[in-house]
Amino acid sequence: MANLSPDLLAQYQPVIGLEVHVQLLTDTKAFCGCVNRYGGEPNTHACPVCLGLPGALPVLNRQAVEFATLASAAINCTVNTTSVFARKNYFYPDSPKGYQISQFDKPLAENGYLDVPSDFATGGGIRRIGITRLHMEEDAGKSIHDGFADSSIRTYIDLNRCGTPLIEIVSEPDLRTADEAYEYLTRLKEILLYTGVSDCNMEEGSLRCDANVSVMRVGAKEYGTKAEVKNVNSFRYIRDAINYEIERQIEVVESGARVQQESRLYNAAEGRTFSMRSKEAAHDYRYFPEPDLPALTVDDAWRDSILARLPELPEKRRKRLQENYALSEQDAATIAASRTFADTFEAAAKTAKSPKRLANLLLVELRGRLDAAHLTLEQSPISMAGLVQASDLLEDGKLSSKQLKGLFEAAFATNEDFPTVYNREKPEQISDTGALETMIDQIIAANPKQLDQFKSGKTTVAAFFVGQVMRLSKGQANPTLLNELVMKKLTAA
Ligand code: ADP
Ligand code: MG
Ligand code: ZN
Repeated sequence: MANLSPDLLAQYQPVIGLEVHVQLLTDTKAFCGCVNRYGGEPNTHACPVCLGLPGALPVLNRQAVEFATLASAAINCTVNTTSVFARKNYFYPDSPKGYQISQFDKPLAENGYLDVPSDFATGGGIRRIGITRLHMEEDAGKSIHDGFADSSIRTYIDLNRCGTPLIEIVSEPDLRTADEAYEYLTRLKEILLYTGVSDCNMEEGSLRCDANVSVMRVGAKEYGTKAEVKNVNSFRYIRDAINYEIERQIEVVESGARVQQESRLYNAAEGRTFSMRSKEAAHDYRYFPEPDLPALTVDDAWRDSILARLPELPEKRRKRLQENYALSEQDAATIAASRTFADTFEAAAKTAKSPKRLANLLLVELRGRLDAAHLTLEQSPISMAGLVQASDLLEDGKLSSKQLKGLFEAAFATNEDFPTVYNREKPEQISDTGALETMIDQIIAANPKQLDQFKSGKTTVAAFFVGQVMRLSKGQANPTLLNELVMKKLTAA
């Protein structure tokens, strides 16, 4: 599809609402005792209940309610004292019961919100995106359409996933751009990971998203007809799919036709969406209250005991990291993006002479090398204690940054921790004032232009002299002493 002109795009207001399904990391399934694990030999994690055999009765998993309650609170939803399970009836081979246990008109939680950064969208700053509801339901099994010799004529079924507990989080149609939707999903995932209720692994399907998209003329009072793009498996693809869908719908409207209410699929290879089924052909789910489960009661005391376990959430943590350790907004955001990463950093920062320097080493020197070697923080040859030692040595001027880089390289090459490498190599350091002054004199004599600049008030040029002497010393000059002596010499020159 041709990219539409900015002029035309500016005449339309996109409207987006997201429905996100999240698998809960409970030990067992939602309504039976089967183990809740991804993978496994097909059809080995299944029992009469999750297979829907006649007479088998569901029993609600308390841990699933705990996790769903925790997630509800994390996205600012009110948890209802009473909610009701309902049957959503449809036939599909990967769901042998012929219905899915879900919640319909009385969901577990309602009326939440998420604050989403939105510099690029209308108004800028932070926009509050409403969350309509969070309800509990169960997952279906999987149809396997390829990988077998007879895949062209047969579909195989794996029911291990049947009955896995899910939460569905439905947003209000408050999002206005694909970028905003991307930010919303990023924040939502971060928060869910912090609560620990899901691993949010999109490749394994533990987090899945449907995007509802419509367009209306700028200033119109009523939303346009929406199309739903289903089951896109990465946030980037969702952003692309929404952008594609916005342009497609504008073209439909511009051509004088109407947008059809329908479900669509996104083809990432082609970068476009195509129709899956129209809403007229859609199922009538004939929802009714699940007769085999009583209404779910969440009393205040129980709910409060669950909410007491809510950790500090990413946004708050970002702010606190920034303030406590004098970090830049970007560094604080990077560290807070993962709870374990932030925990690891904070534990170490308490023992370091300069948390800011430690953060810098962690984010630049260590992470760069870990990424290059495809290692996680847990697999790092340099421990956090080792990183703190390196940071303190830099802070005390006992190591130059060039020497530090060399030691880090050695640590990665030999898979040893920093203290081991440091103690063995004990890099030479020139702390002899006389020797340093000789080098400084030499550099000053060789750079009269820079000296003039310094004298005329441009004192930042001192860093140039420090750098030159450091190079001359092959990185061995004591940085603290060198800084001092350079200033002294320049001022006196
Ligand atoms: P349905 O009954 O068709 O499933 P819902 O009212 O349950 O529709 O809404 C499903 C999702 O679609 C929600 O996330 C909601 O915010 C979003 N949505 C509703 N109307 C629109 C619209 N006109 N444009 C874009 N998204 C919409
Ligand atoms: Mg709906
Ligand atoms: Zn089971």
